Amino acid sequence: MAVIDSYRAVRERVDEAARRAGRDPSEVALLPVSKFHPVETVRELLDAGVGIFGENRLQELETKKLQVPEARFAMIGNVQRNKARLVVEHAAELHSLDSLRLASTLHHRLLDAGRRLPVLIQVNTSEEPQKSGIAPQDAVGFARSIREYSGLDVQGLMTMAVHSPDQQRVAACFERLREVQAELRDEVPELHWDELSMGMSGDYELAIQHGSTMVRIGTAIFGPRPATDS
Ligand SMILES: *Cc1c(COP(=O)(O)O)cnc(C)c1O
Repeated sequence: MAVIDSYRAVRERVDEAARRAGRDPSEVALLPVSKFHPVETVRELLDAGVGIFGENRLQELETKKLQVPEARFAMIGNVQRNKARLVVEHAAELHSLDSLRLASTLHHRLLDAGRRLPVLIQVNTSEEPQKSGIAPQDAVGFARSIREYSGLDVQGLMTMAVHSPDQQRVAACFERLREVQAELRDEVPELHWDELSMGMSGDYELAIQHGSTMVRIGTAIFGPRPATDS
């Protein structure tokens, strides 16, 4: 099947999941995650009207951006502070902000570049030590610390749920993110918290049921990645 057909099939399932949850399908964005897949697949979707793609490694994001400048890329993976420049130069958005030092560095570079960067704060809702993201209980303090960083255009939160066949454990991660969102709306109302990026190929319908406003889909659109991937 052509990638665009897979994309449309997933979009259809996203719409159906939204309707089942009593939600308007237009409330749920679909971010295709093109990491590890060749730039031709990005071009194919771009030609069909898809504008933004998720990447989790900055080197790959930069390479693709230089090859397809008309496409926009959201960085969804871990960023080291010394790579902040690449984010500012090549990324349209950052969905994985979880470090104050990175936030500060980005802010200053964004001011220099004269642009703002839409960001999501990544929260480690499964509390697995190997996962990225700030701890849920640190979210308010984190948000207060970056409140003054005007280069960052905070839009909401991102999480990766626990990888488990137990739907209740997965759903608990999504619910945890919503609790953090509610707390942030009360405690840090100066920033925007509407966006909830949660749900991947294996759990996006459940995430939509639990209030996701953006699902990040790789495998279900592009097929399997090499086994080396995280
Ligand atoms: C790779 C990746 C995805 C997509 O994963 P699939 O299971 O292939 O849909 C989503 N979010 C992040 C942060 C990723 O790194």
